[in-house]
Amino acid sequence: MTYDTQNIFAKILRGEIPCTKVYEDDHTIAFMDIMPQADGHTLVLPKAASVNLLDADASTFAALFASVQKIARAVKTGMGADGVIITQFNEAAAGQTVFHLHVHVIPRWEGVALRRHSGTMESPDVLKANAAKIIAAL
Ligand code: 5GP
Repeated sequence: MTYDTQNIFAKILRGEIPCTKVYEDDHTIAFMDIMPQADGHTLVLPKAASVNLLDADASTFAALFASVQKIARAVKTGMGADGVIITQFNEAAAGQTVFHLHVHVIPRWEGVALRRHSGTMESPDVLKANAAKIIAAL
């Protein structure tokens, strides 16, 4: 698959559509997932264009995973979570639905089940409130 510059995350990166941002640096951005599998579900993206992990330039990963760690710590602390899972899907058959490389950071609490992937749209107010908690912990 070739990279489609009209994918939704490319549009967010260009500022053409909004997102609830929690973090940005020269190489990466992090914002709230609009269909969170748990409260505080955050996505971390490299700004460099690639469809997924498989076609990415390996030089992307140092900055990307430094940001994933930063966000994972802030999500765990800010959301008062017991743990955090990191997921990342490659190709439609593996569950990928947006074709710009991204890493999911999802808080977990003992006894709380994960919601379905790409399930229910969250309200902007809830996304903003959770983003504020994560930003406060950064
Ligand atoms: P994938 O299946 O590609 O790993 O996950 C894509 C994720 O992006 C899904 O969890 C979905 O909820 C989220 N998503 C889809 N469209 C948008 C959008 O326009 N904005 C945001 N913030 N997240 C989105």
